Amino acid sequence: MPELPEVESVRAGLARHVVGRTVAGVEVLDARPLRRQVGGAQAFTRELEGRAITAAVRRGKFLWLALDDGRALSAHLGMSGQLLVRGTSAGPGSDAPDDRSASGPVADGESFLGDPAAARVDLTATRAPSLVRDLSAHPRHLRVRLHLSARPGDPGTGAALDLVDQRMLGGLHVVDLAPTADGAPGGQGSQAPLLPADATHIARDLLDPFLDRGAAVARMRASRRGVKTLLMDQGIVSGVGNIYADEGLWRARLHGLRPGRALGPRVALGLLEATAQVMEQALAVGGTSFDALYVDAEGAAGFFARQLQAYGRAGQECRRCGAVMRGEIIAGRSHAFCPRCQTRPRGGTSVQVASRRSGR
Ligand SMILES: [Zn+2]
Repeated sequence: MPELPEVESVRAGLARHVVGRTVAGVEVLDARPLRRQVGGAQAFTRELEGRAITAAVRRGKFLWLALDDGRALSAHLGMSGQLLVRGTSAGPGSDAPDDRSASGPVADGESFLGDPAAARVDLTATRAPSLVRDLSAHPRHLRVRLHLSARPGDPGTGAALDLVDQRMLGGLHVVDLAPTADGAPGGQGSQAPLLPADATHIARDLLDPFLDRGAAVARMRASRRGVKTLLMDQGIVSGVGNIYADEGLWRARLHGLRPGRALGPRVALGLLEATAQVMEQALAVGGTSFDALYVDAEGAAGFFARQLQAYGRAGQECRRCGAVMRGEIIAGRSHAFCPRCQTRPRGGTSVQVASRRSGR
């Protein structure tokens, strides 16, 4: 699953390439990704055509495009969903001007997306982004295409935003926006105090300046659940999945089964800060190079993957102390940890654990 840094990379790309355009037409090649759309494909098309896209916004792993009628196009990438932009050049509409100066492997970042025969950036979990030349007009697994109005500087007569999804777990739907409970902006990318009505249960994420960290700490410390489960609870803080939870726990030297209520306030806050730092680093690495909108099936942080300290490293040496890392399953998810740096709590009878010799 893509986690916060990967989704933020996609959001920044959407802000740069898609915001300010109008939806000129909708092609639904496969209606299954629209399963959450009330009224199905017809309603999806009707509600999008003619609408201008005013912002690309993210809270945690939730991503939406604000529309000029006060509603939003909500995008879920699932395990394998990708959003790809065609026929654009970098132009107005970005809310992240730094993007312009950091376009990764492309010299000026201005033209390669716009040239239908040009390369795009391929981001995968296991290797550095590379330019690929696989731009058939209708890529395999293309499910939905939004035709978008042209902007000055575009190479052609319009652009397109494609949802490509191999495993069909992602989806799109048009949804009402609802006010935020605290009156602060709904998420990264917009100052509007709004978020999709079906996402109001999602807490602010660890990189959100409006996150009430004290409240998140209090909720964690009130729980007997394991701290890894708490860190991944999108109702406490959002955006953290299995990868960054393992990384944050390793940095904070905490085993994932440590009950929340056993943590002191400084330790709990330290865990949140450590996890936020890992995600910021992943974003700094990935965010400067992710230009095409592509999240890998495993979502493992683009080429930040090679810098991971814990996730997927069971059986390998701890990079801090040299002990052999272990893996176990917590609440159905793998947990890689260093048995020396991250002392496993005794007992833990309230948490179900199935040990594995080595786990991913
Ligand atoms: Zn260690």
